[in-house]
Amino acid sequence: MSKAKTSDVVIIGAGVAGASLALALSGHGLSIQLIEATDRSGYLLPTARDLHSFDLRVSALTPRSVKILERLGVWQSIKSYRYFPYTHMKVWDADGTGSIEFDSAAVGAPELGNIVENRALISELMNEVIRRVDIAVISPDQLEYAVSSGYENLLKITLLSGEKITSRLLVAADGANSRVRGLMGFETKEWDYYQQAIVATVQIEKHHEATAWQRFSSTGPLAFLPLPGGENTHYCSIVWSCDDWLAEELNSLADEQFCKRLAAEFEYRLGHILGVSDRATFPLKQSHAISYFKPSVALVGDSAHRIHPLAGQGLNIGLLDIDVLAEELLLAHNSNIEIGSSGVLARYQRRRRGENLQMMLAMDGFKHLFGSRKIPVRWLRNEGLRKVNQLEWVKKRIISYAMGLD
Ligand SMILES: Cc1cc2nc3c(=O)[nH]c(=O)nc-3n(C[C@H](O)[C@H](O)[C@H](O)COP(=O)(O)OP(=O)(O)OC[C@H]3O[C@@H](n4cnc5c(N)ncnc54)[C@H](O)[C@@H]3O)c2cc1C
Repeated sequence: MSKAKTSDVVIIGAGVAGASLALALSGHGLSIQLIEATDRSGYLLPTARDLHSFDLRVSALTPRSVKILERLGVWQSIKSYRYFPYTHMKVWDADGTGSIEFDSAAVGAPELGNIVENRALISELMNEVIRRVDIAVISPDQLEYAVSSGYENLLKITLLSGEKITSRLLVAADGANSRVRGLMGFETKEWDYYQQAIVATVQIEKHHEATAWQRFSSTGPLAFLPLPGGENTHYCSIVWSCDDWLAEELNSLADEQFCKRLAAEFEYRLGHILGVSDRATFPLKQSHAISYFKPSVALVGDSAHRIHPLAGQGLNIGLLDIDVLAEELLLAHNSNIEIGSSGVLARYQRRRRGENLQMMLAMDGFKHLFGSRKIPVRWLRNEGLRKVNQLEWVKKRIISYAMGLD
């Protein structure tokens, strides 16, 4: 039988949340083990810039998230691969005349946010992780189970490969279907929207004007996010959230029919759709852990909260969890306080759970407000959009909140 390794922190999942947390804790005298189910031995990022070379998963990062990635030492390399800063946002109601526009100049910022490919984010985070001597990456491997070691503040963790680790803290960064969360008996509150998000890269006829576009209709929001293109080639990443029945119908369409349907749904604002990549579909649910910690265990990122992508905030709030958890853990570590103690983890929960809940309730509210076909609600939301669009100070508050500056 192999001897159990010992570690200060074991992080399950090397997605954006897990890899970022490992980096945030590195360099402070803690030993860190990062366990990832998929092979993380290295990505080759495509250099071609065409319809099929962009990652289907992209994220709109707020300036606050960019600051965190800067501090982790990875933003420069993500930038020098490729990204797209957007300076405008246009949101409108398909079912009326209400619309609202945001401009980064209104808050004196160079951009509202940056579109990055998730593959590039993870690749650059992992490149940095493997440079750090205090982080051991175990991949591919998975958490099998975790139990108390019989000693206070020490867990015994077993991986699928049979490897055993004793650790002072176990962090679940293993995503929305977190095995750690299930194994350790965390309860969640769930909302199923009976919707799917279809994501794809599309080539569009007109330039996207460095704008993140969002059209709300009663079957769900449709977003066009700007990607870098060439002089005469323009690309966007789309997230088409729609009811299950419609997603099934759209996914059964051949590419040409899909492009026609998409252009019409988007009211030809960017002209015709000239081509579409492969499409991927994600079920849309919200779930929120009732508690983010138990003694020696903490949840971060999607394992703590899965949020509707309509405002593109999931990864952004995950990075904020990392920022706060790392701060609390390092504060405890430097003061000789046990890092897995309830007092330390409760402070993390106090600083993050309420804020995340507020964001999730706002997304849920938007989803229902724009999903309603009732005439008074339709009238109200169109009036609301028009009014807010005329109130510069209200818009400034909304932009600041969405950019993570508030
Ligand atoms: C369509 C769509 C669009 C989105 N757009 C945006 C956006 O614009 N902006 C934004 O901020 N957010 C966006 N999000 C949300 C964002 O993608 C997620 O919040 C984010 O990817 C979650 O990161 P994570 O690291 O917490 O989890 P994940 O990305 O799910 O990573 C979990 C990792 O854990 C690994 N793992 C799982 N189980 C185990 C195990 N037992 N053992 C070891 N490893 C394991 C997995 O392989 C994976 O690498 C979007 C989501 C969707 C569905």
